[in-house]
Amino acid sequence: MPPTELHPSVDRSRFRTEPPPELLAAIQEARTVLCISHVGPDGDAIGSLTGLGWLLQALGKAPTLALADPVPEDFHFVPGQERIVGPDGVGPVYDLAICVDASSPDRMGPVYRPQVHSRFPLAVIDHHVTNTFFGQIHWVDPSAAATCQMLATLAQALDVPLAGPLAECLLTGLVTDTLGFRTSNTDTRVLATAIQLMEGGADLNQIVNMTLRRRPFAMVRLWSMVLPTVTLEEGVIWVVIRQSQREAAGVPENASPGLAGFLVEVREADISATFTERVRENGQVEVECSFRAKPGFDVSQVAFAFGGGGHPPAAGCTLPGSPDQVVPQVVAALQALRRSQLAQEEQAYP
Ligand code: AMP
Ligand code: MN
Ligand code: MN
Repeated sequence: MPPTELHPSVDRSRFRTEPPPELLAAIQEARTVLCISHVGPDGDAIGSLTGLGWLLQALGKAPTLALADPVPEDFHFVPGQERIVGPDGVGPVYDLAICVDASSPDRMGPVYRPQVHSRFPLAVIDHHVTNTFFGQIHWVDPSAAATCQMLATLAQALDVPLAGPLAECLLTGLVTDTLGFRTSNTDTRVLATAIQLMEGGADLNQIVNMTLRRRPFAMVRLWSMVLPTVTLEEGVIWVVIRQSQREAAGVPENASPGLAGFLVEVREADISATFTERVRENGQVEVECSFRAKPGFDVSQVAFAFGGGGHPPAAGCTLPGSPDQVVPQVVAALQALRRSQLAQEEQAYP
């Protein structure tokens, strides 16, 4: 499959494969550090947040680890996750804030309060191509398969050994963001780092079993309820998940349906989407959109255009409105993107 030109508008000159000196200096000078990752945390969010905590602790710093949402049960094995606090556990004053694995400030949710927290610097460490450079210090590397991969490089730059709990945390993010070393961005750096982390004591077998090979029965019940209406049109396959269906199946609110990754494996599809309806406490309805693409197609462009973000093969956004309002326009955008990427490919390789 020929490569697709990604985000012609992105300023690639700001991306770095090594930690910039100003990040290393800010970490060395700080004592108290507020560490944050993204709402609806996945394995890379949990792994990079707890990994950063162990790294800072090894340097004699005092980290506070914060997340807007609770840690999903599947990640309760990650060492240090029990130290993660919610918005109420975050104080007003630190020497430095570091945000990991989040592409835009809204992804931090209410744990970052700009009114008070903008009085000290915010450093951003992330691998999303859609990153908006929202801090004062940035290290953004979309060539990294996971933020945990970047933290392994950071630990080495700061002479912190990749061993013990730090190794377990970082291997968790490597495994989950690469779907068990299967995504197209799984390069030799990832495999070499995984070997180092395993040599440092990380348990690959446990991580794979806990994160990739387990799901609650309620989730399978939900799949059985929504799959009868799965639709495939013009190379785009999608399902809608109503809140009433999620509740009837008994799936907790913070659980990721994981269906987009399954649907993109359908042979006739190039792009998949799940549309999950959420009715907020104030009655407002929104739709969480989750996209996946086969190699050569870039769904991060559509997610970014709708105010979200992500990676070329996996991206998402949240839109106000009911599924009836949201789904037709997003599906149309995904189909238009697919047509334009097929046409570009045709031009490049007639
Ligand atoms: P998911 O489909 O939830 O597994 O997310 C796939 C990718 O898209 C991840 O890298 C997320 O960080 C990103 N993503 C998902 N939803 C959003 C959103 N609302 N805003 C920004 N990025 C998102
Ligand atoms: Mn993530
Ligand atoms: Mn990630």
